[in-house]
Amino acid sequence: MQIAVSGGKGGTGKSTVAVNLAVALAESFKLVLADLDVEAPNDHLLLGVEPANEREVREFMPRFDYSKCTRCRKCAEVCEEHAIVTLRDGTPFLMPNLCSGCRACEIVCPVPGAIGEAFKVIGHTYVTETPYGFNLVSGKLKEGEERSMPLVVEAKKRARSLPHELLLVDTAAGTGNTVSKAIEGSELLIAVTEPTPLGIHDTELILRLGRLMEMPMWVVINRADLGDRRRVYALAEKYGADVVAEIPYSENIVRSYVQGKPVVLWKVPEARVFRGLAGKVVDFLGGGE
Ligand code: SF4
Ligand code: SF4
Repeated sequence: MQIAVSGGKGGTGKSTVAVNLAVALAESFKLVLADLDVEAPNDHLLLGVEPANEREVREFMPRFDYSKCTRCRKCAEVCEEHAIVTLRDGTPFLMPNLCSGCRACEIVCPVPGAIGEAFKVIGHTYVTETPYGFNLVSGKLKEGEERSMPLVVEAKKRARSLPHELLLVDTAAGTGNTVSKAIEGSELLIAVTEPTPLGIHDTELILRLGRLMEMPMWVVINRADLGDRRRVYALAEKYGADVVAEIPYSENIVRSYVQGKPVVLWKVPEARVFRGLAGKVVDFLGGGE
């Protein structure tokens, strides 16, 4: 089983919900939490753990053998990323940061051996044992790299390869193709929002995506006391989503970030909100152990 926690806008508290939900749900399921916000993963910070078991994610890059290359320019012409520039005599040069690893240049090159294989490391995945009875899998894109999709795919694959009953996916902000990839295969999409005009605007985008992907949707309102919650309820109704929890603005939650200790384990009223949400997920998924 898989569920996803997402939110159109950055900074809505998506990771707070994912992490606290994971801690509570780990009492009912053998759980893996996947932090697929590969440009800015932060679940490990909220859980107070150091990413471990690093594994490189590599991508193909062409390596030119100039002793064989006939300077025909076909590789540069086929490259949609414009990652190959040619000199006046046709000699090809690669701009590695633009290369997407599609291999079109290798396929089109008419001279056997003129393009060989090289690889570049575009990021890393991690599997970290947490003190809360579940593993955290995360992906981190290398600085300067722009293509996050291969990282999302690899991190998700690594998460799925671990023994689990429930995979809880924490996506990036926005509604780009990496978010769709992260959400793909989920039984339930939980959209975290805040009742501000920007939060509501971006939540509509994620609910639109969820409807397109035909999955049941829930909405969690974070900092619920700081805006007009009625607009969130109206939006949820429009998309057939249920508003399942309201989290008030809370200094305890802020303190829990700083300490790297999930608030769901604290003896404070906020913990009950996350436990209540976890209970609803257990009911929705039909049990656990
Ligand atoms: S692998 Fe694809 S993106 Fe990279 S240089 Fe070749 S054609 Fe261009
Ligand atoms: S397609 Fe092959 S032979 Fe032609 S310029 Fe590129 S590397 Fe050289």
